[in-house]
Amino acid sequence: MSGETGFLAPHAGMAGIAEARLSAANLAHNLSVLRSHAPVRHMAMVKADGYGHGLEGTAAHVVAAGADWLGVATLAEALDLRHRAKIVDTPILAVFFVPHQIQQLREAIAADVDVSVAGIEQLEAVAEAARVEGRRARVHWKVDTGITRGGAVESQWPGMAERLRRYVDSGDIETVALWSHFARAEEGDVDANTHQKRAFARAWEVAGAAGLSIPMRHFANSAAILVHPDAHFDMVRPGIALYGSNPVSGHNADFRPTMELRSHVSLVKRVPRGAGVGYGHIYRLAQDTTTALVPLGYADGIPRSSSGQAHVLLRDKVRPIIGRVSMDQVVVDCGDDTVAAGDPVVFFGAGTDAPGPDDWARWSGTIANEIFTGIGSRVPRRWVD
Ligand SMILES: *Cc1c(COP(=O)(O)O)cnc(C)c1O
Repeated sequence: MSGETGFLAPHAGMAGIAEARLSAANLAHNLSVLRSHAPVRHMAMVKADGYGHGLEGTAAHVVAAGADWLGVATLAEALDLRHRAKIVDTPILAVFFVPHQIQQLREAIAADVDVSVAGIEQLEAVAEAARVEGRRARVHWKVDTGITRGGAVESQWPGMAERLRRYVDSGDIETVALWSHFARAEEGDVDANTHQKRAFARAWEVAGAAGLSIPMRHFANSAAILVHPDAHFDMVRPGIALYGSNPVSGHNADFRPTMELRSHVSLVKRVPRGAGVGYGHIYRLAQDTTTALVPLGYADGIPRSSSGQAHVLLRDKVRPIIGRVSMDQVVVDCGDDTVAAGDPVVFFGAGTDAPGPDDWARWSGTIANEIFTGIGSRVPRRWVD
């Protein structure tokens, strides 16, 4: 792969079956593109093992690139960032927990992790953990403005605002932010988005009316950063765009891939016309061909649902995977070309000719987020620049 794309040449010392090569330069580039769209604070979302790139390395690199905050899903992820990755100066938000996680909540509050509350039970749990810990918990109040997933529904807002203010007065809680999340951000000006923005404005008024003074608001994920400048507020929360996938099809933002997934040919053979390939013989050869076996399968995150669609880059040519994707391997049709065991195979990545994660998403009926987060634990992650 060329230097221009941020990935280095193959490393002679690496002798694994496969690896995910990760580009810190491209991660930093993507953050700067996002910053040019939203000149506000950026909470880099590194949940789900840094979208499959590895939690600690991703967090360290994105903080080095200037991310102001980090966002994760669980308290355990947040505690890993504080204690294992030793990220102590960057604010971290954990977006959910279940109320019985009192011990972890206490640890999170002690470690200066911000928590999100979306209902009364969660608020009570945080306040209790803060009291036991003898510290003020940093809370982001999440309101459901129309996604009908997390967040407090509108009928709860006045009651929750009142309760929050009492906990602020008693010193158990500091309200850091009001926040919400779009359901259809990438669709632009549809009614659903107008409704969500209006609801968010009402929640802000409810908070003010209850005497809560909240320093920050945040709403926008990657897609909303590109298409909803009126929802940038004080901070945005990019995820998938940091990792180089364009969240708005047709938008010409210059995001660069941060992950290249590659393996090597393990076996080459000449196979006669008429042979059935792989489980179920869903594919039968129309002519004699050379097949290359590559030891990555659905256990490594190559979706089984991509069978019959997917392609890889091998010896400068994009070639089809034939037959079913197995748990640990796939078969590539090389026609009459010369290929050899040991040849590198790029599943997706940075080369201009290689398929991208968005191609894999299309072949598998999913989104790039699921491709990245599905890369299995057998694949070592390696930052190459
Ligand atoms: C994952 C997540 C994001 C990032 O979403 P992308 O679409 O990947 O940019 C933002 N906010 C919250 C709360 C999230 O959970």
